[in-house]
Amino acid sequence: MLCLGIEGTAHTVGVGIVDENCNILSNLTDMYEPLEGGIHPREAANHHADVLIHLVKKSLKSAGKRFEDVDLVAFSQGPGLGPCLRTVATGARALAISLEKPIMGVNHCIAHLEIGRKTTGCEDPVLLYLSGGNTQVIAFTEKRYRVLGETLDIGIGNMLDKFGREVGLSFPSGPAIEGLAEKGDKLLQLPYSVKGMDVSFSGILTAALNLHKKGEGLEDVCASLQETSFAMVTEVTERAMAHLEKNEVLLGGGVACNKRLGEMVDRMAKDRGASKFVPDPSLCVDNGAMIAWTGFLEYESGIRMTIDDTHINQRFRTDDVDVTWR
Ligand code: AMP
Ligand code: MG
Repeated sequence: MLCLGIEGTAHTVGVGIVDENCNILSNLTDMYEPLEGGIHPREAANHHADVLIHLVKKSLKSAGKRFEDVDLVAFSQGPGLGPCLRTVATGARALAISLEKPIMGVNHCIAHLEIGRKTTGCEDPVLLYLSGGNTQVIAFTEKRYRVLGETLDIGIGNMLDKFGREVGLSFPSGPAIEGLAEKGDKLLQLPYSVKGMDVSFSGILTAALNLHKKGEGLEDVCASLQETSFAMVTEVTERAMAHLEKNEVLLGGGVACNKRLGEMVDRMAKDRGASKFVPDPSLCVDNGAMIAWTGFLEYESGIRMTIDDTHINQRFRTDDVDVTWR
């Protein structure tokens, strides 16, 4: 069985093709890059509309498959930016209707977790999901994926990108900040903002920009920004693992590509006799394969959707989904 998955919750549009064993036959992405400033939702959606059909064709070609070989069309139903979600949902509906194949809407955050579970071999992890717009600690308990902690304001990647924009780095800034941080050798004081199981990043962003304005070296500010914000999310993740007695931690989202984050989470896991898992970078970032695989799991477990069920949900909560496949 072949499932074609389309991702399009934010700046990335992705088309992935997987089979019933999660062999990833192709997984292509195309990212909208704003000329200046942050993501403009309407412009990002226009980008997705322009590239989607070409990406579908390219993905089929690179998988060595034809349109007729597709058995199921899955798409990212939310959470995300409304115009982007609507554009991709329209594309997915058109494809499913014209191929006369079933369609499946997928929760984007759960897709990060499921592709990680399948490709890294962990079974029942706490997911630390760190992306541009999302920062969540998620785990399976009481038949659902529950959000145990999350950001109270902006996503951690968003914070890094905003900082980068203000200091003149290109978008997305996470990788450049990581490179600069490696050369930093001074830990500057920044607000460590953990509130119960939740975190907040707007204060740390302002404080880091102020330090830079006052003349602190960019390398030291980047290093301190990483150390402080990564420590915050690692602390909350550890508490979730302790509460739920889970001994696996899985990373997901674009920020999970960061080596220093990986080291800190690894250290935390080792200290408590747990294991850390990180998917391949191509599966950490937003991508179509994770949507295809989760769509397949849902379909296999008996879920069916009509076109009427495929309306998008900008605020699609992780714990809204009845996890019928576990
Ligand atoms: P996503 O929203 O999951 O596609 O991830 C995109 C986010 O990941 C952006 O905010 C990037 O700045 C961030 N990112 C990508 N690579 C890294 C890295 N090596 N270190 C920190 N952040 C990163
Ligand atoms: Mg994501």
